[in-house]
Amino acid sequence: MNFYSLNKNAPKASFKEAVINGIAPDGGLYFPERIPQFPASFFDDIQNLSDHEIAYRALMPFVKEDIPDAVLRDILEKVLDFDFPIVPISEHVSTLELFHGPTMAFKDVGARFMARSLGYFFKNSEEHLTVLVATSGDTGGAVANGFLGVDGVEVVILYPSGKVSDIQERQLTTLGQNITALEVDGTFDDCQRMVKKAFVDPNLKGRVKLTSANSINVARWLPQMLYFLFTYKHLKAKGKELVFSVPSGNFGNICAGMIAQRMGMPVRHFIAATNVNDTVPKYMQTALYDPKPSTATISNAMDVGDPSNFVRIKQLYNDDFDQLKEHLSSYSFSDKETKEAIKSIYAKTGYIADPHGAVGYLGLKKYQETHPDTYGIFLETAHPVKFMDVVSSTLNTTLSLPPQIEKIMHKKKVSMAISQYEDLRKFLLN
Ligand SMILES: *Cc1c(COP(=O)(O)O)cnc(C)c1O
Repeated sequence: MNFYSLNKNAPKASFKEAVINGIAPDGGLYFPERIPQFPASFFDDIQNLSDHEIAYRALMPFVKEDIPDAVLRDILEKVLDFDFPIVPISEHVSTLELFHGPTMAFKDVGARFMARSLGYFFKNSEEHLTVLVATSGDTGGAVANGFLGVDGVEVVILYPSGKVSDIQERQLTTLGQNITALEVDGTFDDCQRMVKKAFVDPNLKGRVKLTSANSINVARWLPQMLYFLFTYKHLKAKGKELVFSVPSGNFGNICAGMIAQRMGMPVRHFIAATNVNDTVPKYMQTALYDPKPSTATISNAMDVGDPSNFVRIKQLYNDDFDQLKEHLSSYSFSDKETKEAIKSIYAKTGYIADPHGAVGYLGLKKYQETHPDTYGIFLETAHPVKFMDVVSSTLNTTLSLPPQIEKIMHKKKVSMAISQYEDLRKFLLN
């Protein structure tokens, strides 16, 4: 499979090239040249397939020229070594918990798949690769954990000092081995600026091979389609049309679900649920895409004013707004509504949702008001403990720490303080 740039001004790339480049040389996102189709028998028989087999059949067409079958199966076995439980909430609603991985946010699967793919590509290479990533919280932890111990790849994470949560900082700074945390005296935007500068720094060209691990990378994006296929396998027997409500920020997760649908998976509809950063909900009302600077909310992993993956969704529908509307609705919710949802889910069912999942729940409820015949799934993208302050103050209760988090609470933090770009360059050249 080849991937082309959505800016249409760069050479086509193989899967391997697309993963290593991250973004195409013309600044466009990579998109698969065609969407493979599952045979109808795949969905007839899906209940008899293991998750590993489903994952193999879904991803193989995208990567087969670059990753041999046996290697792909081995990678998937290591990436998918935790559960994705579906928890019933009411008669027509379940939540899909995507937070049982090592860093307790759904980004673990994509980050691990990217890490293992690069690990394979650079296994016997003379060249070393450095993954450079700026984080405001969840991404850094998932990337650090995914790449830990991968041969041939060094990971350098920049995070703003004092501006990530205690748990998030521990997830970045206690791993060691090939992971280095640079603690930046500045904001997330400063971290991002330094990373961008490094990518175009002539002093680094030819001396350090850099790549980025943010969500536009095809190896982080595509494996997210597996969540939707695993859910279909389990809920097919309900005999109802399924709808997915996805709490969305950069729209990579929901776009991967829509790819699964285009590959043949029966789904009635997708709901993109957002916080007050409502660029896409507005677009779905007006057909005008008008990006804005982001606003801070309690579901902060979705504080995105110009979602980077939305161009992929538009491409999937050839920019046909009416066709897209058949399959996608989008609604926006305030922090107040989100907290009320956390309370009402807890009061009705005893289930503790995190702020992102609660936004997903609200989107689903809104859609089902007019489509009561459907079976709805909202995605729980992070463990509530990662948003302890909001959740415990909203519910007046405390949460106990799961083992993944407990494990890092008494490990020693190791980071290197930097304050300007020259510090980063010096570090990379050493
Ligand atoms: C990253 C993230 C999201 C948003 O996912 P996108 O693919 O960017 O839309 C939602 N919830 C949590 C907890 C996240 O970390």
